[in-house]
Amino acid sequence: MRALLRVLLSTNAVDDRAKALLVDSLYAQPLSLAIGGVCGILTSLTAAVESHQPPIAWVALALSMIALVRIALALLLPRIGGDARRLELFYEAGAFSYSFLVGLIAALAISLNVNPAVITLMVGNAIAYGVGIAARNAGRPAIAIGQLFLALVPVIGAAARQHDLAYTFLALTLALVLPAMMAISLQTFRVLRTSIVAAETSALLADKMQILARTDVVTGLLNRAGLNHHLVERLLAVKDGDKLALFWLDLDKFKEVNDTLGHQVGDRLLAEVATRLRQQAPPGATVARFGGDEFIVACEAEDRHQVELIAQDMLEAIARPTRIDDDRLEIGTSMGIAILPEDGEDLDTLMQSADLALYHAKVNGRNQVSFFDPSMTRNLVRRKEIEAELRLALQRDELSIYFQPIVDLATGNIRGFEALVRWFHPEKGELRPDEFIPVAEESGAIITLGNWITAQAAKAAAQWPDHVTLAVNLSPLQIRAPGAALGILNALREARLPPSRLELEITETVLLDHSQTTDTFMADLGAAGVRFALDDFGTGYSSLSYLNKYPFGKIKVDRSFVSGVNVGKTSDAIIRAVSGMGTTLGMEIVAEGLETIEQVHAVRQAGCTLGQGYYFSRPVPDHLAAILLAQESERLDAHRLAG
Ligand code: C2E
Ligand code: CA
Ligand code: CA
Repeated sequence: MRALLRVLLSTNAVDDRAKALLVDSLYAQPLSLAIGGVCGILTSLTAAVESHQPPIAWVALALSMIALVRIALALLLPRIGGDARRLELFYEAGAFSYSFLVGLIAALAISLNVNPAVITLMVGNAIAYGVGIAARNAGRPAIAIGQLFLALVPVIGAAARQHDLAYTFLALTLALVLPAMMAISLQTFRVLRTSIVAAETSALLADKMQILARTDVVTGLLNRAGLNHHLVERLLAVKDGDKLALFWLDLDKFKEVNDTLGHQVGDRLLAEVATRLRQQAPPGATVARFGGDEFIVACEAEDRHQVELIAQDMLEAIARPTRIDDDRLEIGTSMGIAILPEDGEDLDTLMQSADLALYHAKVNGRNQVSFFDPSMTRNLVRRKEIEAELRLALQRDELSIYFQPIVDLATGNIRGFEALVRWFHPEKGELRPDEFIPVAEESGAIITLGNWITAQAAKAAAQWPDHVTLAVNLSPLQIRAPGAALGILNALREARLPPSRLELEITETVLLDHSQTTDTFMADLGAAGVRFALDDFGTGYSSLSYLNKYPFGKIKVDRSFVSGVNVGKTSDAIIRAVSGMGTTLGMEIVAEGLETIEQVHAVRQAGCTLGQGYYFSRPVPDHLAAILLAQESERLDAHRLAG
């Protein structure tokens, strides 16, 4: 009995979820309840008609009405829903009164000693119902056992009072059925409850694991998997006419922090950025770390203007200086933004658009926001292709060096050649260096490519007469690479080209950041005899201060001053000023892009000493360069002989 009490009471201890599930089980099969109800109605009405006893008829009527109400409730309630306690009360009220009436009608049949067939029908009905229900409702043992008792006790009572041996044994048998069925109900209930609690526990555990699997350890934000999950849900929730903004952030120069201050500091910086993003992002936004130093934020927005404001706020929040230990860190962010639905209607497209926009923000100088624009796709696809194919181009022998003569404007003799790289792509045709050099610079491939160009060009130049120089273009990145100067000197040694015959063309941008590396690079090579030319003069800052500070032997005036749209009095005046200064400083002035004899005359008048351009020759392969030199030497020989 105590065990029974404990179990009955302990049903309260089953947690609410399990309890709700158990209550649900009461209504789980409305069909079985309906069939039971219909059987109850038919049997009790049969008993009423067959027995001609008004008490039985009244009870049959009450039983039928309750059965009908219960069938209706069983079918409707789960659909209407409601809290577990209320559903249970409804069920209890119906179940108890129904069970009691089933028992009562059987007891009446015995007491009133009606037609034996009716007694058999009603007693059979009460036993079947009581036993059946004790099994069916084991999920709520208090109800099950209550129903069992209510259905059988009246029958036991009526049978016991008949002073008939058969009835006495019926009463006894049924009295034994009670504890037996009770034990079965409780056992079923225990098994049921244990398995439900176990299932609940493992579901909770699974939830916890899932949260862990979707969280980034370093920042506590969602990780890539979590982001995916959230975004899918967000996208499903977006209504027609709503906008969803996707911000893709990439910290600028985070790698440098990691490399110089260590991963621990890097991790703490990431965590700090995460905190700021979480605070700054609009409430309810999805904030995730996409991996490395990339973050993604997604939120609803009214219009583009609002998106812009959110982006600006986030950018500024990250830009505020951070102090980690003794280091004061400041970090910039590049951000790409795509908006649903205009920039992509599904997640993949939206992410792609934001990625493209981010790429543009980075290419355009970092620390800025860039909105997606459909034109980005074409350029970028080509860029990406080039980046991938450039790696193979060297191995496949698709690159070659062309040479364009630099001519002495006074004598017309070739003084040197500028090496210009060419890429003959098997499908895309000839690619311009302007298109692939920037890609190579960005991917870092320029170091390998640049070394190869210098080595190849030096080999060709070693075949030329001693007085002919070689000019090679250098990218800023090449100069900053460790061991850059040594690499160039090695290439010269291998090609057996004296350093004094090499001239490196560099642009002002190299000198802008006043780095020690650049100074050392120029000093080391200068000491070995290599000379320098300042390329594309007039296109950048054109600060004359560099000319004093660095040992340039030449200034190359950009072709926009010679043949561009801006050619006129001002450009002429600039060329004159530069030439004047060149003469005083002992530098030569080269005019680039000479296409006509008029231009040649004009720049010579303005004081340029050297010229380069299609007027003299287009860039040509090395064997044609050798032929140009041979022709010139023949011409000079003939001239000398004639003179
Ligand atoms: P740049 O150093 O200013 O090279 C001169 C460019 O002007 C070359 O274009 C050349 O073909 C072109 N050019 C020469 N004469 C004329 C002319 O009369 N009219 C016109 N319209 N153009 C003329 P290219 O070969 O397409 O090279 C473009 C740029 O790519 C170069 O400009 C240089 O900055 C870069 N580049 C080329 N080769 C290399 C290289 O080997 N390494 C590096 N780092 N950059 C290179
Ligand atoms: Ca050049
Ligand atoms: Ca140039």
